[in-house]
Amino acid sequence: MFCTRCGNQLEPTSRFCPACGAPVAASAAPQQPFAPSRLMRPRNNRMIAGVCAAFARQYGWDVTLVRIVTAIVCLSGAGAIAYIVAWILIPEEPYALPTI
Ligand SMILES: [Zn+2]
Repeated sequence: MFCTRCGNQLEPTSRFCPACGAPVAASAAPQQPFAPSRLMRPRNNRMIAGVCAAFARQYGWDVTLVRIVTAIVCLSGAGAIAYIVAWILIPEEPYALPTI
């Protein structure tokens, strides 16, 4: 990793260039704030309540992988409660107008 301003080699963990003080590009990018309003359960492409599809779409995960992981976690018991909590907390997507 190198400083974008002066080209000085940087430690991978450093947040600022020790030579010129420029913020390191990776950590200079604004942290994505947690935006629960964007997390919505889609009305289509859902298996049970759309919780898996909501997380998969929000974070760009593979929905099949999310469902497999969710199924495994739900078998432990606590996961099922977490799923129901997510079901309640995550709002449902508003009805989309037909595009045809
Ligand atoms: Zn620098």
